[in-house]
Amino acid sequence: MIRSFLWQVILALRGRSFRGEYARFCAIRDPAALRVFVEERLRSLLVHAWEHVPYYRRILEQNGVVRGNEVDLSRFERLPLLTKEIIRREELVSDEHANRKWYANSSGGATGEPVRLIQDHVFWRWATAASFYYYTHSLGMDRDRSRKVILWGTGRRMSDGYPPLRVRVKHWFRNQLPLDCSRMGEPDMARFARVINRRKPAIIRGYARSLYEFCRYLDREQVPIHPPRAVVISGESLHPDESKAIGTVLGAPVYDYYGSRETGALAGTCSRGRWHVLSFHNFMEIVDADGRPVGAGREGRVVVTTLHNYSMPLIRYDLGDRAVQGDGSCPCGSPLPTLRSLTGRLMENLVAEDGALVSGVNLSISFNLLDWVQAFQLLQEGPRRVRVLVVPRAEPVEADMRVVEGHLKRLLGQGVDVVWDWVEEIPKTPTGKRLYVRGPAGP
Ligand SMILES: [Zn+2]
Repeated sequence: MIRSFLWQVILALRGRSFRGEYARFCAIRDPAALRVFVEERLRSLLVHAWEHVPYYRRILEQNGVVRGNEVDLSRFERLPLLTKEIIRREELVSDEHANRKWYANSSGGATGEPVRLIQDHVFWRWATAASFYYYTHSLGMDRDRSRKVILWGTGRRMSDGYPPLRVRVKHWFRNQLPLDCSRMGEPDMARFARVINRRKPAIIRGYARSLYEFCRYLDREQVPIHPPRAVVISGESLHPDESKAIGTVLGAPVYDYYGSRETGALAGTCSRGRWHVLSFHNFMEIVDADGRPVGAGREGRVVVTTLHNYSMPLIRYDLGDRAVQGDGSCPCGSPLPTLRSLTGRLMENLVAEDGALVSGVNLSISFNLLDWVQAFQLLQEGPRRVRVLVVPRAEPVEADMRVVEGHLKRLLGQGVDVVWDWVEEIPKTPTGKRLYVRGPAGP
């Protein structure tokens, strides 16, 4: 109680209290009110982008979306999709961002030159409110007060020992304990189980496949485990049977959550297992190859417009994921639009020299946004051999390659050979999906 109160005070002192934004979301009770809110925010974002970002001014005028201060939303879907390539090429940062409390949030990449994203405190408050809303309305739980254990690929500093004090304090205030799952051997999983049984969290959250593997271990070894009230999986897509297995082993409902660093909270499943889009934060469209929205029941690419980041607006940003548009109805009564299904990144775990499982999400982070990498796949060909398939966009950078190799060897073992392969296309799975990381037992 005191901890939560102190946390609220700290947020307020830092201009980061999100209560106002959260109240705005809560006031939206039906789809019509949601539409009014989203359209109002879209209009004001488009006028801002037209005024302060030359690239957007050009495309908004070319497509007749903004004329003077008049916005024609009926022409919105004519706007070209925003790709990472355009973000790199064009200056999308607002020319007045210096007046805002902004910060750089590099997208994903642990190495090389990732896409540099500028976000600001206002965006942070809306994004946090959206995530808080999800926990309250879908899980029926207070995100910050509930005791949480998180299986996360917490990065280099965690793998080498404890995280920095500043990070530990933040976790303490938010009542959460992170466990590093970037590589998990059986002793790690036994420790995770002990921590969970001792701490008795209300929520267990983590990378989907790492949680799945952890549950397989619990089941195989018949390790008793404290059941949380809810499990939240994210970061990668699982087969429905796999998420069901997590629920069975942990004895709790499993919620699937979808977000990205570029956009913050995007969508999550509700108590009825259906996807709802947090569209008051990010306006989401499911579109065909020409950028036209598909109808209910049709599959397309996931494209979002961040409604609250005026420092660097992302308009019709192609996330590279696919979804099937829903028809909006759900017995849970949420006013938020639905998706019938969502396919995020598909990844398997690799196996390290010593038998530990290495998180695909964590591995893929290292080259997510290297400028010269158009697409990639990591492929384990044997206990000591990993092949990296790359569709190059430009001349590979030697130094980046060494950093990636270092990252792979640190997680997989120093004796592992990393072989690079330049290809024209990444092969798809038999069902036509793209697998980013393929383990030793992959298809
Ligand atoms: Zn629902």
